Amino acid sequence: MRFAEVAVGAAGGHRHTFTYSVPPSLQIEPGCVVLVPFGPRVVRGIVTGLSETSTVPETRDIISSSSPRPLISSERISLALWVSDYYVAPVFSALALMLPPGFNSKRQPKPKHQKYLVLDVAVEELSPILERLKKARATKQAGVLEMLQAAGGKMESGLALKNAGCGREVITALKNRRLMREVSEEVFRDPIARTGHPLEFPLQFTDGQQTAWNPIRDVIRADDRMAATSIFLLRGVTGSGKTELYLQALAETVRMGRKGICLVPEISLTPQVIDRFFARFPGKVAVMHSALTAGELYDEWHRIARGDFDIVIGPRSAIFAPQPNLGLIIVDEEHEWAYKQSEKSPRYHAREVAIQLARLTNSVLIMGSATPDVETYYRATQSEFKLVELAERVTPLGLSPLPEVDIVDMRRELKSGNQGIFSRALQSAMTESLNRHEQIILFINRRGRATFIACRDCGYVMNCRRCSGALTYHYAEKRLICHRCRRSYPVPRKCPQCSGREIKYFGIGTESVEAECRKLFPGAGVIRFDSDAITDASILQRVVDSFRNRSIDILVGTQMLAKGLDFPGVSLVGIVSADTNLNLPDFRSGERTFQLLCQVEGRAGRGIFKGRAVVQTYNPDYYAIKFAAKHDYADFYANEIRYRREFGYPPFNSMARMAFRHSNESKCFEEAERRAGFISRTIVEKGLTGIKIIGPAPAYVIKLRGKFQVQIILLGRELHDLLHDVDLPEGWILDVDPVGML
Ligand code: ADP
Ligand code: ZN
Repeated sequence: MRFAEVAVGAAGGHRHTFTYSVPPSLQIEPGCVVLVPFGPRVVRGIVTGLSETSTVPETRDIISSSSPRPLISSERISLALWVSDYYVAPVFSALALMLPPGFNSKRQPKPKHQKYLVLDVAVEELSPILERLKKARATKQAGVLEMLQAAGGKMESGLALKNAGCGREVITALKNRRLMREVSEEVFRDPIARTGHPLEFPLQFTDGQQTAWNPIRDVIRADDRMAATSIFLLRGVTGSGKTELYLQALAETVRMGRKGICLVPEISLTPQVIDRFFARFPGKVAVMHSALTAGELYDEWHRIARGDFDIVIGPRSAIFAPQPNLGLIIVDEEHEWAYKQSEKSPRYHAREVAIQLARLTNSVLIMGSATPDVETYYRATQSEFKLVELAERVTPLGLSPLPEVDIVDMRRELKSGNQGIFSRALQSAMTESLNRHEQIILFINRRGRATFIACRDCGYVMNCRRCSGALTYHYAEKRLICHRCRRSYPVPRKCPQCSGREIKYFGIGTESVEAECRKLFPGAGVIRFDSDAITDASILQRVVDSFRNRSIDILVGTQMLAKGLDFPGVSLVGIVSADTNLNLPDFRSGERTFQLLCQVEGRAGRGIFKGRAVVQTYNPDYYAIKFAAKHDYADFYANEIRYRREFGYPPFNSMARMAFRHSNESKCFEEAERRAGFISRTIVEKGLTGIKIIGPAPAYVIKLRGKFQVQIILLGRELHDLLHDVDLPEGWILDVDPVGML
């Protein structure tokens, strides 16, 4: 008798597998999808292992296998078990991450089939047949056969009919004469223009790149490698040539007969980067693009599994692509929060998953960033990863320095009577740039025209009815919009509270900055770059193209423009407000500010012009702003890690966030208190030490879509010992290593 461990896809979600017996008639391997009895029902399951013995006295039989071959490799089964264990998520949902797209949804994408006409006579018999047909005046039939012969004996049916200008009756006649067959074959939907890009070749490394490259090349070439020496943290300022290193590391991996996965934080914002990959590896790059349809993703998945591609590029979920024979993983901009799945379980971090996958597959891993996550950098200082650095910028014309950054104290601007959006320094820098026909990027991390509107008489602020928080005024729609739930409201003519008629607009967003630019510089071309303006990939491409070819002078945008875009014509970056993230109750707000400012400042001076940045702030002495202005990661890190150590924040402790939502406020808090009490008793019972419970406390967004939110934060070293024993009822979510405390 053989037994199988099966992760079952039953409601509720189990964090362990169940043992079933395998009937001798069934062909089953780990990674197969099966049907199993579960209680009174039949559910889907995934086989994680087989054995000759069972630890349970009675087992039920597996009913059937719905996939003849395993869909998940043994390494990825191990990876899923790790995800389930580490992120405290059901085994089945962790395994489902590795299955073809659409596997777990109701509407499953099916393979697409196409009909082909196939010539059914030997070539030497063809000319007498053609003669006979022509004699019998069946010229159309003869024409189709001749066309098929010219096409090598096979042609897509629809195309053949169109080219021959005939109807289906001609096909039927040829089929009846057994001169031709029609077959149906699976075809891959391929919307990605992965070829046709002008071919590009590896660049000659600069000295700095060569130094960084040597140790990477050595491990890629080594037969046996150790995990500790094959995980790299590549720190290099924006424009220092990291992408060039990734491309050559991938090429080296392919030369060694292996394949790669490259993660990018947000695929739709990085068309330029992806084009560079296509140009280096024509026809060999798979893209897991979020804009693909379910069917297209399905096909891409199967082609990857078949080994069609040397490289898979995609957002965080691409780490689960079935790329066989993996040799190299790249995580570009490793500090980006987009790598964390925060929306649904398993709440995994793609960088952590990449580290596990590299260990399981004995692959090399390169994590790159100009501003590494403080936790990643700390682990590099503890020799868990190998640190390599690129100190200088390379530009097409040689080495160019980072932009000079001026910090402007907006309190002093106010005192001197300037209430405008732009300080005098920024405005004159803009004038100079425009006079020299150089381009400008303005950054403000808020959308809209006014961040809140209020009654001047009684101070009433217009809030969303379903969420806590003020509504933002959007000029284009002339409506108030909630940025949390997207519901929109008309602008009231009078105050809902006191009927006062003086409604005032406060705060600035991208729309107000755009309007101010048009007012001050009427001759300049201005365009907005935020999620309101850039709603799809084609608009993105148009805006990027017109800014690159310099038909636009000023780009006004949110953090969307901090990513991956390379605009050589930009000499000035203006950060309209550096303060948007500062006062959030999150221990990472300093780090976040530093990263964002460095990235945005780094957009200036990437081409032939010397770059300059002007940073406007009401907190000119804040450490993250000061260090970002000097591009000083080392000093920022030293400061930040001291503060983390003092307060016991990650990396010195693990963190988990538990949140509960309920439409009734007091029920919400009662449940949270009850759970917190249960957790502290468990800590005592298990004799765990050094675990701190913060809360329960209202979440930063107290109310969202009509539901109240309360949270408990846990900090400690032995958190996993605790988390595996805490059962959370419906309505709770658990986020291990959350990227935000809000
Ligand atoms: P990063 O990924 O660090 O932002 P990139 O690899 O995109 O940097 O390089 C920045 C610019 O410098 C790109 O235009 C790239 O083509 C160019 N570049 C990189 N390495 C070299 C090199 N060795 N020689 C010439 N140009 C280079
Ligand atoms: Zn709302």
